[in-house]
Amino acid sequence: MAKRVYQVWKGSNRFIFDGRLIFGPDAWSLIITISLVVIPVVIFCVFVARHLLHKFPTYNAGYAILVVAIAFTIYVLVLQMLTSARDPGIIPRASHPPEEEFSYDASNRIDSSGRHTPSLQFPRTKEVMVNGMPVKVKYCDTCMLYRPPRCSHCSICNNCVERFDHHCPWVGQCIGLRNYRYFFLFVSSSALLCIYVFAMCALYIKFLMDGDYPTVWKAMKHSPASVVLMIYCFVSLWFVGGLTGFHLYLISTNQTTYENFRYRTDRRRNVYDRGCLNNFMEVFCTKVKPSRNDFRAFVQEEAPKPSPNARPAEPDDDFGTYHRSKVEDDLDIGGDLLKISQRRSIQEFDEEIDRRNDSGRPGTASESEVVSELDRQVPFTGTEIPITRTDARNSSWGRRSSNWDISPEIFTKNTSVAGSGSLVTEKERLVGERK
Ligand SMILES: [Zn+2]
Ligand SMILES: [Zn+2]
Repeated sequence: MAKRVYQVWKGSNRFIFDGRLIFGPDAWSLIITISLVVIPVVIFCVFVARHLLHKFPTYNAGYAILVVAIAFTIYVLVLQMLTSARDPGIIPRASHPPEEEFSYDASNRIDSSGRHTPSLQFPRTKEVMVNGMPVKVKYCDTCMLYRPPRCSHCSICNNCVERFDHHCPWVGQCIGLRNYRYFFLFVSSSALLCIYVFAMCALYIKFLMDGDYPTVWKAMKHSPASVVLMIYCFVSLWFVGGLTGFHLYLISTNQTTYENFRYRTDRRRNVYDRGCLNNFMEVFCTKVKPSRNDFRAFVQEEAPKPSPNARPAEPDDDFGTYHRSKVEDDLDIGGDLLKISQRRSIQEFDEEIDRRNDSGRPGTASESEVVSELDRQVPFTGTEIPITRTDARNSSWGRRSSNWDISPEIFTKNTSVAGSGSLVTEKERLVGERK
């Protein structure tokens, strides 16, 4: 049965309700956070608000204190879920590195055996223009893409997240482009809830003092719950209030937490700052971008494309159909391998490579072509990959065609296999079998 995207998800996220809700790997901390909100509010309703019900006989205003507390708590919890349970702005991983970014460096690296080893060059950063200013964007090895400006890879969730702010352990989710607004509202509302509960507890103490308990001390002794809640709210307010203030500053200057910490010492101009009002509008008055991920969509298995150049197998080809199908089964690297083995025998191809190497023209067009074909097949590790002659022989495994048109799963498999050198081994095994 076809699997859904969330079932084969490569990030560390957790999904519930069949992929409808997405959390970070540390989502269990939500239970703590919810408890930190709900338990004090329950104590407040039972031990404080209940006694205030009949203190304001006009319009039954005492009931409003209880209702506001409950409604406000529900609002805070909804904001928390909007922050935690949805896609924060994850950029889907690419199935292959951006092909156009490869450049072949034929300059001379010499390996231990004294051979010229051309290397694969892959620019680690690129410059893009943002508001007329150059901004460096980095390549993400895990997601195999150049991160858009302000995007960063969350090491906890293992995803690239747009306008990455930080990973919040309290909500168990990344804070990014799609949930920053809710995160800020959650934090600031929590701060307001703290102030509200604190104020109502103080009011209750005041009523007690006006009644049978003339001193503060006696009033507090009569209602220890009020005292505990006031201390709790006071301490919490330092945290959520401080965070609210910090994020108000970040929003007004259009920075993310990540940028603030990262570039604090740089003193470089913030290219995203469009003026205080516009910065606030950007966070609060723009439509939330639709998610780039459909976690419930069915995974499309890409079938190997039939090659336009592929010729039918020649009947006298002693490297028979059995071997070919086995290669495909074993390596599962798509139609290219089959195509190569159909085109000519491995021996023929090795001879050709030898001929090319022996012609002593390192870096000539023909060899470049051979190696650049290899570049497309060799696993991408993100750094310079020295290519030895042994590898170069395996350039026969790929042709110029759409070698990257393989599904993510296949690519991963291919990468892991090739990463351990098994591509070479596999070929040698096949040649061995043939002998
Ligand atoms: Zn990434
Ligand atoms: Zn994260």
